[in-house]
Amino acid sequence: MEEIMRNDHVFHRDLLKQYPIITHGKGPYLYSEDGRRFLDACSGAVAANLGHGIKEIAEAMAEQAGKAAFVHTLRFETPVLYELSEKIAKLAPDPLKKVYFTSGGSEANESAIKLARQYHKDAGKPEKHVVIGRWQSYHGNTFGSLSAGGDIKRRQVYTPNLLDFKHIHSPNCLRCPFQREKKDCDKTQNWSCTASLEQLILEIGPQNVSAFITEPITGSQLGSVVPPESYFQEIRRICDRYDVLLIADEVMTGFGRTGKNFAIEHFSIIPDIITFGKGVSAGYAPLAGMIVHERIMDGLMQNSKGKFVHGYTYSGHPVSVAAGLAVLQIYEREKILENVRDAGKYLFDKLIDLKTRIPFIYDVRGMGLLLGIEFSADKAGTPFEPSLQLSERINEKAMELGAVFYPGNGTINGQMGDHLIVSPPLNCKKDELDELVQILENSMLLAIEEIR
Ligand code: PLP
Repeated sequence: MEEIMRNDHVFHRDLLKQYPIITHGKGPYLYSEDGRRFLDACSGAVAANLGHGIKEIAEAMAEQAGKAAFVHTLRFETPVLYELSEKIAKLAPDPLKKVYFTSGGSEANESAIKLARQYHKDAGKPEKHVVIGRWQSYHGNTFGSLSAGGDIKRRQVYTPNLLDFKHIHSPNCLRCPFQREKKDCDKTQNWSCTASLEQLILEIGPQNVSAFITEPITGSQLGSVVPPESYFQEIRRICDRYDVLLIADEVMTGFGRTGKNFAIEHFSIIPDIITFGKGVSAGYAPLAGMIVHERIMDGLMQNSKGKFVHGYTYSGHPVSVAAGLAVLQIYEREKILENVRDAGKYLFDKLIDLKTRIPFIYDVRGMGLLLGIEFSADKAGTPFEPSLQLSERINEKAMELGAVFYPGNGTINGQMGDHLIVSPPLNCKKDELDELVQILENSMLLAIEEIR
């Protein structure tokens, strides 16, 4: 193989680091130019949902690129655009039937926020503009999506530039931000995590509030925290009561990751807009978007002559859309949802077993193949000193041993907790999961040895 030379022109996110140079991938494995192999235990950034090197997808993209590489959707349409939109509309809950494409998840959330605003303005409620998000949610890195999310580290540098969006806490019964016990919330049928939304809407004035944006399962910020069963039912009721649109950010959870097409289906409610990304093209091409409720579309038709005042050059890029179409065909043909449920249960049980052996695992949680492990320094759940960077350290050890995970540390009331997301490709096999767990256990032991 030709020697690969590094140079100084790549603007990494961390200029002090040098990363392995990946030459190719096959299935759940990535291979680097120095002969190492990495089990992709987090599907890149929970995106490469079918693993690597699938010819069928590459060929579909090449075929489309050979036909018409780019057409502007302001002037033209393509057959693949119709095919993929129809497929997505069929997977989405009724009556979310119109699909709008973007290149990435941040753009998808920007689009949803703008659509919500236009919807209210057109409906004769021009004051409605405030977006409410959650402190422990992540919705992207562009200004609107960053303002909607609550990632302190990502927001800090840019605070003066951010929009004045409002936030509530995400539910987390293990570390309740309201210092309550789940059993008491259930007994009294009074959940502070939902009541805080109503309280905030009333403080802002319902006439000013446009939308509430939320991840169905809190992903990168908390490490796959599932809300209490009744959470979304109550959130839906509150949004309805005050005419606030409910945006479900399924960029990480959409297209089967949690064992259903969309994670919000686990909670039996219908949002007004679902945003998606990552899994729709399984990482083969930049593709994301939103699926929109018919009442919003009706409003747009009646009040704005069908015109959404928004758009990107690469909305519905035919090569990305062709990738998405090939990916969804594979999900269906290979019964991916079934594999996610089976493999997810298998992996969850293995991680629970790991918890009995590794005392600093505080919690194992999640749904399907979006699993999270949280660490604590003692049985009471005291987080590790943030400067120890435990989850980063575990991932570094894992990379030395041949696997890559998704480390993180979120904050609730200023308390930091280390976690790791475990999210292998949706078509993973049991022997690959055995290998994953073995490497994970060894990495955890090596990392803790280093800091103790
Ligand atoms: N929303 C969620 C829930 C995400 O997890 C992410 C990315 O990790 C985004 C939005 C942003 O997507 P992108 O990085 O494609 O802009």
